[in-house]
Amino acid sequence: MPKNTGTIVHESLDALFGDSTFLSELLNDEREKALRSIRSILSTPNHVYKSFLRLPLENGEIVRIPAFRVQHNNILGAYKGGIRFHETVNEDEVINLATLMTLKNALHDVPFGGAKGGVVINPRDFENKELNLICKKYVRYFSGIIGPDKDIPAPDMGTSEREMDWMMAEYKSIHPGENYLGSFTGKSTINGGSLGRKTATGKGVYYSLRYMLYDFLNENKDWLKSQNNRYANKLISWQAKPLKIAIQGFGNVGSIIASEASCCPYLENKIVAISDRNVTLYHSDGLDITKLKNYTKRNFGDLPMNEKELEKANITAKIMPRDDLLTLDVDVLFLAALEDQINNKNMNQIKAKIIVEGANSPITGDADLFLNKKEKIIIPDILANAGGVIVSYFEWMQGRDTKFYTEKEVNNQLFEKMKKTFEVVYPQYIRDNYSLRENCYIQAVMKLSVVLYKQGKLY
Ligand code: NAD
Repeated sequence: MPKNTGTIVHESLDALFGDSTFLSELLNDEREKALRSIRSILSTPNHVYKSFLRLPLENGEIVRIPAFRVQHNNILGAYKGGIRFHETVNEDEVINLATLMTLKNALHDVPFGGAKGGVVINPRDFENKELNLICKKYVRYFSGIIGPDKDIPAPDMGTSEREMDWMMAEYKSIHPGENYLGSFTGKSTINGGSLGRKTATGKGVYYSLRYMLYDFLNENKDWLKSQNNRYANKLISWQAKPLKIAIQGFGNVGSIIASEASCCPYLENKIVAISDRNVTLYHSDGLDITKLKNYTKRNFGDLPMNEKELEKANITAKIMPRDDLLTLDVDVLFLAALEDQINNKNMNQIKAKIIVEGANSPITGDADLFLNKKEKIIIPDILANAGGVIVSYFEWMQGRDTKFYTEKEVNNQLFEKMKKTFEVVYPQYIRDNYSLRENCYIQAVMKLSVVLYKQGKLY
């Protein structure tokens, strides 16, 4: 289980309490009262909406499907967050995910609040026509609370650009004459989606590593030496070091990380292993990513699973059990598949020195504590995988202006935005005694607290 977001808010405020520069205008009792108020505001959502969607099935039966929209906080702008279609969706999970969206947007200076939606279904159990109706009903039931200036949903687990296109179309029918392009993000480009949205998360995840080990390290070499602490010394030890890389997951996020890493002119990378839902492929001299991407494109996203398929793909690799990738002796491990992948059971065996979270919560709370004690560098999800929501913000802006950027413009703006966050959190990580994850949470809670104070919400 990832850490509960209420606990994250509490711990971040505890850390900020001792920082005299934080809300320095408030002293003594007033300061304690303000911190208690912030704690109370940020550890609870503004609204939890639940509906039971009425769905006539293709076989004539009527079913009622539980659906949620949680709006956590909108102090920084309209609520924003994905809609998840999954049979395990529940209220607590949606609240937790909505809170994380508030924190992620605050960290990256995206002018949105945090929200999340969920529908309790396994989408594989439904016909396309039924899924289309579920999407329309979701928009109808929640039509009063969503919209381009109120709450802007996006895809999440079990939903994709197809569902966003359907939902946007329903929003348009319910609100004739209004601006509808900004009502949903993650749409197809023909329907007002942004170029570069599909690759944004993977590109951002790889950039979080490259920036740390190349840009930040080279631009701050003297400063890092002057810090002379264990974090600074460890980072310096990575200078110009060739990297052995393993990537868990070869879907939308993992395959882009692989492409970025394999053609990066700044770091000397060798991708020795990749895995998917079936297998791990390993080659100590490095895998041919272009050939593997071509193979997965032709084979429903799956990697070659046996010698015959490897031959068909013209790939040399050793086939290993799927989860063996996690415990390989590599420098960098990218996690780009599912949550809870490093946990109590395997945390002892993790050999990678740097772990980058492309997926959400791929390391459990306990394992995170353990790996930090082992002095691993963990680049957390909230920092590394924000490319999707950042380009969603660009999509929303483009929809409002009905003026669209080129893919190159989108990518440049994405890197620029992420760089601004790295420039704040990486030096703090070196200076303070907190993990990178804790640092990101503290930074996000600090920003939200100051805005709450300045907008007069603490009276
Ligand atoms: P995807 O469905 O395109 O790919 C998932 C990949 O993981 C596939 O290659 C699949 O075979 C593999 N996989 C599944 N189970 C596995 C297992 N047990 N071991 C190894 N590999 C396994 O999904 P995606 O869009 O690439 O997203 C990956 C993760 O990143 C998800 O957790 C998602 O929630 C998260 N994420 C995605 C985005 C985005 O913009 N796509 C943004 C933020 C976070």
